[in-house]
Amino acid sequence: MGDTNIPRSRYYLKQILIVVLVTCAPIGLGFPLAFWAARNALETLSREHNDEVINRVDAVFDDADGVMSSAVDLVGDKCEQIIDELRRRMAATTFVRSMQFIDHGNIYCWTVTGPVTDMPLARSFVDGRLGLFISRIVSPGKPLLGVRLAVGERSIISYIDELHVSRLLALGEISEQSILVIGTKWMDEDGEVHEGGFTPPSVGFVETSSSKFPYTIKTGFAADAVWTYLWGHFWPLLAFIVCLGAAAGYGTHRLLIQARSLRAELRRGLQNGELLPFYQPLASGDASRWAGVEVLVRWQHPLEGLLSPNVFIPFMERTDLIVPMTVNLLESVAKELSPVIGSLPKPFHVGVNISTTHLADPYFVDHCRRFLSCFPKSSVTLFLEFTEREEIVATSLTREHLRQLRALGVRLALDDFGVGYSGLRFLMEFETDVLKIDRAFVTGVPTNRRARYILDSILDLAGKLKMDTVAEGIETSSEADYLKARKGIDYLQGYFFARPMRVNDLLLVLASPPPSTECPLEHSEASSM
Ligand code: C2E
Ligand code: CA
Ligand code: CA
Repeated sequence: MGDTNIPRSRYYLKQILIVVLVTCAPIGLGFPLAFWAARNALETLSREHNDEVINRVDAVFDDADGVMSSAVDLVGDKCEQIIDELRRRMAATTFVRSMQFIDHGNIYCWTVTGPVTDMPLARSFVDGRLGLFISRIVSPGKPLLGVRLAVGERSIISYIDELHVSRLLALGEISEQSILVIGTKWMDEDGEVHEGGFTPPSVGFVETSSSKFPYTIKTGFAADAVWTYLWGHFWPLLAFIVCLGAAAGYGTHRLLIQARSLRAELRRGLQNGELLPFYQPLASGDASRWAGVEVLVRWQHPLEGLLSPNVFIPFMERTDLIVPMTVNLLESVAKELSPVIGSLPKPFHVGVNISTTHLADPYFVDHCRRFLSCFPKSSVTLFLEFTEREEIVATSLTREHLRQLRALGVRLALDDFGVGYSGLRFLMEFETDVLKIDRAFVTGVPTNRRARYILDSILDLAGKLKMDTVAEGIETSSEADYLKARKGIDYLQGYFFARPMRVNDLLLVLASPPPSTECPLEHSEASSM
């Protein structure tokens, strides 16, 4: 029985695994979903941010377009004549810092310097409309945005300070990264101008182009923004998922406990071979030799230890488990005793407790026949012990089974005689070979007159019915001495002679004669019993 840890650990490992899996399932599914939702939400934020920025940047460029359109009538006139008017109109704008008039690629008028000569325009505009430059003269090194309006062979350019646009890129409330792209150049939120080499952010990246001007706004988030967003906005969902996981895990744990109900547990125990035969030796009536054993089942439960049959037999009798349990037990007994049959006393009987439902089982006689076939002919007598606990209904099938069993040499015993209600009726209905007198009439019999009278009556009855008798529950040497002297008792059984034990101990006990003085044997079962 040292190997009981193996099924226990495997059994528990499996259950723990199930609970862990169920607990993690909502988290395993919920977290990626929340993650995906957070990414989507960030993408939406990027899109909204782009739309908002484009709206406002378009307004800045519209401002430039507005002043340039109003200055179209001045194109072609000499710079000296228009410069004041131009400056006056420009001063009415919000964003335009300076304006240039160009004729055939040469700047001829600039609001900063007035008339210009010999200054070719060295800047190119995307779609002839927009450009991103670095200022060379007015604020050297500072970025500038140029908006161009073509007027025939001539054109007007408005320059806008980078600040008016870069501050719009940083509009968002959370840490998005946003740039404005014109052609191959781009400007970031700090107003820095770059050429090429832009690496899009990994999360929620969206590009939106203006429908009015040739520029694009690109916005996205760094990878860790998902987590920040998740904790910031989805924490109730995350908390719910964690609670759901915990609740599912707890629910599964409870279900598993229920599934480990006695029935499921018994079935599992049966499959795992945890129901074991113990043997209680019976002495002959004069206590001079061993005469047989009663098989008493024990459940070696992996967690609870050795369990008494009183804990599970009544339950098994109410379910369909009693028959497979008894069949298993018969097999185990045959397997344990048949190899040592040579060292067992002769004659020798094996008493097996049988539930009445088993008697009605169509294969019952086969089960007993198979058991006997494991031993040399006539080396073992099978006693089937029926208790008064359950009433045997005398159907034609049970009668036929009992007839066939007797033909096989099987002996029918009435167990616990005297404590039930149906003992005498049983004796009326069925031809019984052995009467097992309950411990109640044995305990204290040497000193208890009433118990003695009852015992005498039972023995009289058994004698008249030509039945063998077993006195059960003999615990003291005075009881043993009294019953030995009483004569008429065929077998003596009780802790005084031996307790139920495993087969190895049984062989040791059977090797010596039964005890004759008061010295209860030490071959005790586990103390948990
Ligand atoms: P039972 O058939 O009357 O078995 C005798 C019971 O009395 C056993 O209890 C045994 O350990 C106990 N016993 C024996 N000598 C003494 C003694 O000197 N003093 C006291 N106080 N008790 C003694 P156990 O093993 O706990 O079995 C209880 C009952 O469970 C059995 O009563 C029997 O009805 C049932 N049972 C046991 N094994 C099986 C089985 O394999 N199949 C069925 N159907 N029932 C079983
Ligand atoms: Ca019994
Ligand atoms: Ca009994």
